[in-house]
Amino acid sequence: MPTELVRGYLEKVEGYGEDYSLADLINNKLRQEEIFSERDMTVFHPSSVGYCARKVAADMIGTYPKEQIEERILRVFQNGHSSHERIQNWFNEMGIMVEEEKRLTDDELNIKGNCDGVLELGDDGLFVLEIKTISAKGYRYIKEPKPKHYAQIQLYMHLAEIHKGILFYECKDDQRIKEFKVEYDEEFVEELIEKIKYINECVANRELPERQYEKNSFDCRYCEYRETICWPDED
Ligand code: SF4
Repeated sequence: MPTELVRGYLEKVEGYGEDYSLADLINNKLRQEEIFSERDMTVFHPSSVGYCARKVAADMIGTYPKEQIEERILRVFQNGHSSHERIQNWFNEMGIMVEEEKRLTDDELNIKGNCDGVLELGDDGLFVLEIKTISAKGYRYIKEPKPKHYAQIQLYMHLAEIHKGILFYECKDDQRIKEFKVEYDEEFVEELIEKIKYINECVANRELPERQYEKNSFDCRYCEYRETICWPDED
């Protein structure tokens, strides 16, 4: 007996007549999952701490128009999730994963999120784990943690009260691995907390922070707010 969702896909297929493709079905499924995602956008997600304050505030306010993420990118995201699960499973099967997807919250700062896991590595003790998958093109340049990832794991270490972390990078194209041990940096985390307070304040006042980057910067080039709120009238 097809579920509601499957019936929805079948109706879509019938609607397409001879022209439907499996790619259409997959894209439709992913789009529906995106629309009905249960991710709470009103809280501050630690994974966004390294991102543009304006973009994070706009996401949290939730009423600003944004460009739709293209379907290919939705598939890339899902591929990333599958890789995370595969890598987490390795650590589970080795018996060194103490807590997978550890919940991390701070009510005062309105933070809710999860880190990929907490590992116990013998006498070295506990480490916060953060997994990243990256294309071969980007992988070549990874000589140290990327700034956004460094900020993210610092905040995780703070929230988990575990002051050691590992950033684990896997190359998507050929499964090469690089890993970096990261020590907690209290001063750096204080700056992150100031940023989070500022974003929360902007959200409470329904105001957007100033643009943080130039239009042609890497961050803006791939941002869903580039054409809708930051530079709406320019080509
Ligand atoms: S387009 Fe650039 S400045 Fe504007 S919200 Fe996005 S990242 Fe920030």
